[in-house]
Amino acid sequence: MKASVVVPVYNEAANLPVLYQRLAQVLGELGLDWELILVNDCSRDDSWQVIRDLHARDARVKGLSLSRNFGQQSAIAAGLRHATGDVVVVMDADLQDPPELVPELLRKLSEGHDVAYAIKRSRREPLLRGILFGLFYAIQTRLAEPKMPAGAGTFCAMTRRVVDVLNRMGEHSRYLSGLRAYAGFQQVGVEFDRPERHSGKPQQSFGKLLRMGLDAIFAYSYIPARLASILGLATAAVALGVTIWVLYGKLVAGTAILGWASTMVSHLFIGAVQLICIGILGEYVARIYEEVRRRPLYIVAEAVGLTSEENAFPNSEGRTLTNPEGSTFPGH
Ligand code: UDP
Ligand code: MG
Repeated sequence: MKASVVVPVYNEAANLPVLYQRLAQVLGELGLDWELILVNDCSRDDSWQVIRDLHARDARVKGLSLSRNFGQQSAIAAGLRHATGDVVVVMDADLQDPPELVPELLRKLSEGHDVAYAIKRSRREPLLRGILFGLFYAIQTRLAEPKMPAGAGTFCAMTRRVVDVLNRMGEHSRYLSGLRAYAGFQQVGVEFDRPERHSGKPQQSFGKLLRMGLDAIFAYSYIPARLASILGLATAAVALGVTIWVLYGKLVAGTAILGWASTMVSHLFIGAVQLICIGILGEYVARIYEEVRRRPLYIVAEAVGLTSEENAFPNSEGRTLTNPEGSTFPGH
């Protein structure tokens, strides 16, 4: 049995040697054939040089370098499409996903599960980040379909058939936890306490996290779009009530409204509701636009230990890639 470990890398030069060492240790103890696929998401530090050095030392370490910063999720997609293992592990480069948990995830697969994902029981984050993460999971797990467990991030192990399914999903809104839940099969969670990053600052800026968070909500739920209709109906009901009241005042009671305030308030309120609804629609329209352009999910600039002529056009069928050993990459 062969295991592939896929890791997105953005400015992680100081973490990579430690990650390699700890992974080699645990995978070695399991007596597995393995490969480590490090996907350099156009780091600005010397991560790519470190990946090349690791490959020179140990050919089981392979590297892809993307032509620009495509983001964590696209980097993972690139790694998954090049992984050849019977089982595939996805984890972060900063050692917040401890390599020592990998054997337990793999054990779940050998017990017959197809997906074993790690659940963050606790995490060490700055206060504001922690609150925002909590809020995100609270909203996301309520809205998303299929249901996703709160605290399940990217760290997971999957069998080949699940990875093949993920590779065939061509969409741009790639929120791994969501795609993985959508794939189905037998899934199981394993709890762990998430440590702090080994070295460096978080590379997921607030903007990147917000984008991923919005993807995780709008790509997995139509409830926000329905919310627009519900708000519209509620506003119409209020408007009807007010109309009846106004007509009663004018025609029956003879107390015509002098008010300017009530007109202003209702105008502002309806204006706000409309803008919110247009914004929600916009979220979906932008996603449709992104999907129909069918631009590549990522562009590979360089590879070590892997051959990659493809640029990952979504749903690119019928292409064959071969690795140096001559076996064919599945899913292409
Ligand atoms: N990452 C990436 N591209 C980016 C940002 C981050 O490949 O544009 C990688 C990063 O190197 C790390 C993983 O994604 O391996 C998670 O990033 P980070 O630790 O910043 O996220 P957090 O721990 O906050 O989820
Ligand atoms: Mg991290």
